[in-house]
Amino acid sequence: MRDPLTLLHEVFGFPGFRGVQEAVVARVMRGAGTLAVMPTGAGKSLCYQLPALARPGTAVIVSPLIALMHDQVRSAEAFGIRAAALTSADEDRAETMRRFRDGQLDLLYVAPERASGESFRSLLRATSLALFAIDEAHCVSEWGHDFRPDYRLLRPLLDAFPEVPRLALTATADRHTRADILEQLGLPQDGLIVAGFDRPNIRYMISPRDGLQGQLKTVLANQAGAGIVYAPTRDATERIAAQLAAGGRTVRAYHAGMDPGVRRRNQQDFVASEDMVMVATVAFGMGIDKPDVRFVAHAGLPKSIEGYYQETGRAGRDGEPAIAHLFWGAEDFARARKRLSEVDEARASGERARLSALAGLVETSECRRMVLLRYFGEDPRAPCGNCDNCLAPPATVDATEVARKLLSAAFRTEMRFGVGHLLDVLAGRETDKVIGNGHHRLSVFGIADEAEQKLVRPVARALLARDALRADDYGGLSFGPAARPILKGEHSLAVALPAPKARRRRGGAGEESHAHDPLFEALRARRREIAQARGVPPYVIFHDS
Ligand code: ADP
Ligand code: MG
Repeated sequence: MRDPLTLLHEVFGFPGFRGVQEAVVARVMRGAGTLAVMPTGAGKSLCYQLPALARPGTAVIVSPLIALMHDQVRSAEAFGIRAAALTSADEDRAETMRRFRDGQLDLLYVAPERASGESFRSLLRATSLALFAIDEAHCVSEWGHDFRPDYRLLRPLLDAFPEVPRLALTATADRHTRADILEQLGLPQDGLIVAGFDRPNIRYMISPRDGLQGQLKTVLANQAGAGIVYAPTRDATERIAAQLAAGGRTVRAYHAGMDPGVRRRNQQDFVASEDMVMVATVAFGMGIDKPDVRFVAHAGLPKSIEGYYQETGRAGRDGEPAIAHLFWGAEDFARARKRLSEVDEARASGERARLSALAGLVETSECRRMVLLRYFGEDPRAPCGNCDNCLAPPATVDATEVARKLLSAAFRTEMRFGVGHLLDVLAGRETDKVIGNGHHRLSVFGIADEAEQKLVRPVARALLARDALRADDYGGLSFGPAARPILKGEHSLAVALPAPKARRRRGGAGEESHAHDPLFEALRARRREIAQARGVPPYVIFHDS
């Protein structure tokens, strides 16, 4: 065996190990099963590349995406490492197998589904193996945010080669997922190595969507350098890219449905550019080595805190200051919760936990970084001073009473009305709709003063995010499991109000004044979608009830 440190200098030209790399490499060198949890950009690849060179034989690396494998092969080859991917998409498969059998490969990348085949096993027996590396190992766990059933095929393969060391790698694993990965891949409890997750140069900024296009334009106007805007759907990437391009900056879109040639060119241009903005789905960024991304902006709620951390982690990999913006809406939570009803219970409980962790992050008035790091099992000592909440501390208000009033007004009006109407009822306003429905006669506990009225929307948002209140497709509401403890006075509800800024010009009276409220945008958008699906203009069925 060759000395890893010498190889680090000679092959990679790096002056030394970074963080936990040394510990991980040392374990793999002595053949110990290991799970390395290291943030994106921490240098996970080196942890298997180096032992692959230092130990006799070839390393087999399991990776979930063909694009990812090809990126890895290319960057390994750039260091003079002999690497290849064995995928159905590659025409030189026979040649790759020949090189493998002849011991001419340092790294062989394969997809997890290959692991189950007997022919693959006999191929592996044809030469000596340096190690198995399982990249993106969280895919093996249903607790993880990206479960791939194919990863469950790996265990029998690994067990068929008990003398070959196994190294699992992931950037994203909460406690449950870590424990599960160890279990599923047959790794020892003491094989867990976790790197520090703090990215002190990234400034976290999180706010409700309030005119998204304007918010993104402000980001672009204030932020030089290359940036990524993450949009929830393919359509949204193209729409937002078109809107932002009008501002004069080079803006491109990227998503899996695009022509591969265009997509590849957009990606290459982005990597080469110093100020391009890429509007993309979250697939963009995996395996892209661009250290000087200056900002990442989420136009909608990420899937999980792991996802958020990973996506924001694509900013500022050069260590220079970078900003991560997130614009969320209550409807993001509503949509995610809706998906829960479509998956089995084991899956749904993990999802629910992830959503409530996200709700905790977006709603907190505490330091965002502390919330994030605690999620990853760290114990940060002090607020970071480099997130929106540290820079402009929001006022925290106990809004439990307002929440109870809102929930009971919803109940008293048979859950058929949106928050705008409930606010009118609570404020004792005699609008046509209030009188028409006889709601002026309801004995609800009213909200008299303006300060309380201002809390109604943030409270509604908080209730929706926490699954106390659910908005249905037709503008009505229902109670979620978190409603009861609030109504019974067992749980309190605090909301963070942003530091005051110049008031936005409002539209006309009545419903129009809800123009920029995420809750109302949600309901409107949803109504439009339904109406379109039915081929009926929205105002026919859904004039504001
Ligand atoms: P990850 O897979 O953890 O996101 P990568 O393996 O892609 O990270 O590595 C990120 C970058 O860091 C790469 O450009 C890699 O060459 C570089 N890198 C890795 N280890 C070191 C090191 N010890 N010293 C300097 N650069 C390193
Ligand atoms: Mg990697």
